[in-house]
Amino acid sequence: MALEIPAGAVEALRQSRHVLVLTGSGASAESGVPTFRDAQSGLWAQYDPLELATPDAFVKDPALVWRWYRWRRELVSGVEPNAGHFALAELEGLVNRLTLVTQNVDGLHQKAGSSDVVEFHGSLFATRCFVEGTASDDDDGSATPRCGICGGHLRPGVVWFGESIPETELQTAATAAIDCDVFLSIGTSSLVWPAAGLAEAAARSGATVIEINTDPTPLSAESHFVIQGKSGEVLPELVNCLAVQ
Ligand code: NAD
Repeated sequence: MALEIPAGAVEALRQSRHVLVLTGSGASAESGVPTFRDAQSGLWAQYDPLELATPDAFVKDPALVWRWYRWRRELVSGVEPNAGHFALAELEGLVNRLTLVTQNVDGLHQKAGSSDVVEFHGSLFATRCFVEGTASDDDDGSATPRCGICGGHLRPGVVWFGESIPETELQTAATAAIDCDVFLSIGTSSLVWPAAGLAEAAARSGATVIEINTDPTPLSAESHFVIQGKSGEVLPELVNCLAVQ
């Protein structure tokens, strides 16, 4: 079945002054990066991400948490951006202004050529000191790497459940949510806060909300346009429509 791209959504993007894009793990699913729900297979089937991606889990068993992140780093190192990532990089050149905020930690938007990506939940490939919070290059690949400065545990540079979003990223995203006139939500369940609140803030400020997802979400009913489908198929089509005058 041919994809239906609503003309109103294309027009909103064409007329836009500032587009805020928010992506979730669905945007990387077609690259082969499992969403948390899909990741519950194989080696890690017996674990709940909520029991691995928290500061408490790390304190309890840093070696287990590191094993999980080293597995995810390896998985992501072997994958490539999909057509959706590339279409978003192209979209940058087709609209007046675009801010891209991602909840993903896989670096695939940057690999596809998007610039100034706001990594709301950090990066799989960053490492920080668990004690001081500072960025570190001291990860030696061992089971429980240590900070070269204070000797404390090093940790993956992602935002865990229950942790705050880094101040700069939060400010940039919150400011863009109020300023944007089109909000594009892609492959996110709109359940994880505070990222989910960005759409609400944008809608309250009068932005046109467009959702691209394979399934309905709590945002669907609040959206002006819902395009049901895979982001790797919908986004190239949307960009094609926009590029055609
Ligand atoms: P999520 O909020 O990111 O939900 C995934 C959403 O994507 C669902 O609504 C699903 O219907 C949709 N989806 C699945 N495949 C799609 C496709 N091909 N096209 C469009 N939509 C599609 O929730 P989560 O997966 O539970 O992740 C929670 C958090 O965990 C994320 O916000 C992120 O910080 C982290 N995470 C990151 C990655 C990554 O970096 N790739 C992967 C897993 C989890």
